[in-house]
Amino acid sequence: MKIKSADFVMSNSDVAKCPKRPLPEYAFIGRSNVGKSSLINMLTNRKSLAKTSGRPGKTQLINHFIINDSWYLVDLPGYGYARVSKSSKKKFQKFITNYFEQRKQLVLAFVLVDIRHEPQSIDLEFMEYLGINEIPFGIIFTKADKLKPKAIERQIEDYCQELLKTWEALPPYFITSSSKKIGQDEVLDFIEATNEE
Ligand code: GDP
Repeated sequence: MKIKSADFVMSNSDVAKCPKRPLPEYAFIGRSNVGKSSLINMLTNRKSLAKTSGRPGKTQLINHFIINDSWYLVDLPGYGYARVSKSSKKKFQKFITNYFEQRKQLVLAFVLVDIRHEPQSIDLEFMEYLGINEIPFGIIFTKADKLKPKAIERQIEDYCQELLKTWEALPPYFITSSSKKIGQDEVLDFIEATNEE
């Protein structure tokens, strides 16, 4: 898929106020600092469509972008950031779960994972939550430029082993680097393919 246009639509914390156009929608979520904003900018060939976070955990909103006037890219708040107070953490979780449980046009969620890290329980639990709610998801491994090819292979293998403890089949996954522009075509082509189904 070629990106012809990518524009910000709106931010809010209420799924009921999300855009009304019935376009297919793809959500991006992950731990704070995983590289989500950088990835969104890389995928859309924009320098600052998504704001790279100076202060992680600050951008606690559902952000809609419209791509090629044909699908929505949704930037969701990062989770698992300790500096967010307990009460705001709770609220954040609620509006996120509302989003996932109520947004009918959501096609798939991409869960972002830093390729350097061992499987983290918060990510695995989130994938389980998606599974229980029958929300299709894929995994995007970020910051692949930080590892050598052999180490990437090892990390992916370990991650898959961990997933297979819970899941019968592996979700689609992608290896990306925003700084080296790796994985753009793979993710966009996957979106295009699922969009046509
Ligand atoms: P977010 O909080 O998930 O939106 O993460 P950001 O996109 O703001 O990135 C967090 C930090 O990781 C920043 O310092 C980025 O420069 C860095 N980063 C993001 N993507 C990459 C990548 O692909 N490679 C490298 N080396 N660093 C990255």
